[in-house]
Amino acid sequence: MRAATIAVVAVGLALALALGIDQGFDPTSVAILILIALVGALAIAAVNRSSAGVTAPAVCAGCAGVISANAPYCKHCGAPAPPA
Ligand SMILES: [Zn+2]
Repeated sequence: MRAATIAVVAVGLALALALGIDQGFDPTSVAILILIALVGALAIAAVNRSSAGVTAPAVCAGCAGVISANAPYCKHCGAPAPPA
């Protein structure tokens, strides 16, 4: 997911850059280039954040309920959750 996002951003940047070199850099193409770079940086940051912060939910050993991987105890039955 992260590599795919970076690849898409890199291809978009390369295309905009190639177009700019081919047709000359006017203010519009420079603006598009900056926009792609900004959106790309945001997308990569979002992917990094989601892959680092969100973990798969855990299953309670006591009641088999789905609980947060970071929860200290089960919200359904109160049993202590296994360490992540
Ligand atoms: Zn439980």
